[in-house]
Amino acid sequence: MTNYKKNNSKNVFNFKNSYVKLSNDFFQRINPVPVKEPNLLEFNEDLSDFLNLDTGKLKGDLGKLVFSGNLIPDGSDPIALAYAGHQFGDFVPQLGDGRAILIGEVIGKDKKKYDIQLKGSGLTRFSRQGDGRAPLGPVIREFLMSEAIFHLNIPTTRSLAMVSTGEFVKRETFLPSGILTRVASSHVRVGTFEYFSYSKNYKSLKKLIDYSINRHFKKIKKNKDLYLSFFYSVMILQAKLVSSWMNVGFIHGVMNTDNTLVSGETIDYGPCAFMDFYNPSTVFSFIDTFGRYSYKNQGQIVMWNLAKLAESILPLIDKNLERAKKKITEILLQFPKIFEDFWIEGMRKKFGLFTKNKKDFEIFKSFLELLQMEELDFTSTFRKLSSKTSDEKFDDEFLKEFKNKRNGKNWLMTWKKRIYDEKKSLDEVSDFMKANNPIYIPRNHLIERAIKEAVHGNDFSFMRKFLSILRSPYRDLKIESFFSAPPRTDELVKKTFCGT
Ligand code: AMP
Ligand code: MG
Repeated sequence: MTNYKKNNSKNVFNFKNSYVKLSNDFFQRINPVPVKEPNLLEFNEDLSDFLNLDTGKLKGDLGKLVFSGNLIPDGSDPIALAYAGHQFGDFVPQLGDGRAILIGEVIGKDKKKYDIQLKGSGLTRFSRQGDGRAPLGPVIREFLMSEAIFHLNIPTTRSLAMVSTGEFVKRETFLPSGILTRVASSHVRVGTFEYFSYSKNYKSLKKLIDYSINRHFKKIKKNKDLYLSFFYSVMILQAKLVSSWMNVGFIHGVMNTDNTLVSGETIDYGPCAFMDFYNPSTVFSFIDTFGRYSYKNQGQIVMWNLAKLAESILPLIDKNLERAKKKITEILLQFPKIFEDFWIEGMRKKFGLFTKNKKDFEIFKSFLELLQMEELDFTSTFRKLSSKTSDEKFDDEFLKEFKNKRNGKNWLMTWKKRIYDEKKSLDEVSDFMKANNPIYIPRNHLIERAIKEAVHGNDFSFMRKFLSILRSPYRDLKIESFFSAPPRTDELVKKTFCGT
């Protein structure tokens, strides 16, 4: 192995670790477990530059050693974080980082703090029956998905690096294992609040909320009802986040409270998927038997998760719990309207509308009903709609796949009239729509292909090409049509697995 010394990693990260300063009940100090034969498969240089890291050094041997956990870089103070969570509605008092280790925090170009975490880095106190490792397949899935979501302008944790370990993990069969380096604005979850609330550790609960405000919501620090403001701020970020998932047809698949961050970033790319054919009841996750986390339920579920956050912080809101409940419920009940407003705002952009009109909701709803009835693809139908409407062939082209052309035509007429009233040029409308309706998304069948070729064929070329395409989702790259086309019936992937 390379005889790299810790000294060689001086000034590579410039870690500034704040979470370790909280208190011992927040984490376990633990080092990653070294792996046999690390190989740096992917390194996100743009992200590394953004995080002010030494990209030059990290893309070589140093990166391989650090991102596999084989070398603990200078300034790192590795910890596994404690948290609880409601999983599919059932409370688990202790979850925690069972296969992830936070190696430190760095300051990005935006002057904000970011966590750098190795996922799949070995056993911790929180591993329970798990082995602390991750198969390479789900690591690839998370890398591709998170980069895609980021470039779709949706808040998300990101992927800095991907390594293979030269080791195998036992699942249904033996699979090669990997480690993903995840970057997050923080790893404070609703479940972290539940952890301290459940154990009635109000001292740490208060420390946690103050820490979160300091890290994410500095602007509210002078507000009178500080902790209510905190709750409201988290609620806004989550409403924005989940409505933006809805706007692109993303189904998270495992919206447990430990996967809901107070920073409002998407986290935990397990069984997530993008919907191909529009059906609001769509569920991909193999373990989601009752459709709790189906596409259409995501708004209600995040509100449920926020209710769990509310319950956890009640004692900090007001000593009189009844009064606390009343105050926070008043805020929580605003959620549905806020969520819908964000959703409508996103939809307006997708439909090329610059101004607000009360009737828009109806136009959107009837379009989605048409999509469902006609079993049309969500993403590509929106993209088709974004072509120039002046083109004579537009209607015919657009309605080509419709079984009931008259319904489609009627809808088109209503929509065009609405566009016309805005008095914008058709070029302007079309450009605006194309900037809000992606052509390339991480479709399930393509993700599966990337994983299959990489893991079973040791060929990473498709994965890399797909990754580069997902990094420009809105621009027509004039490439093979299968990168944007919906899956053929024989290509459809209807189920996803956590694969943890
Ligand atoms: P997730 O499904 O990734 O949200 O994980 C839920 C909980 O299970 C967390 O506490 C994880 O740390 C833990 N977990 C998942 N996979 C493993 C694994 N392979 N080894 C140890 N803990 C795990
Ligand atoms: Mg999780």
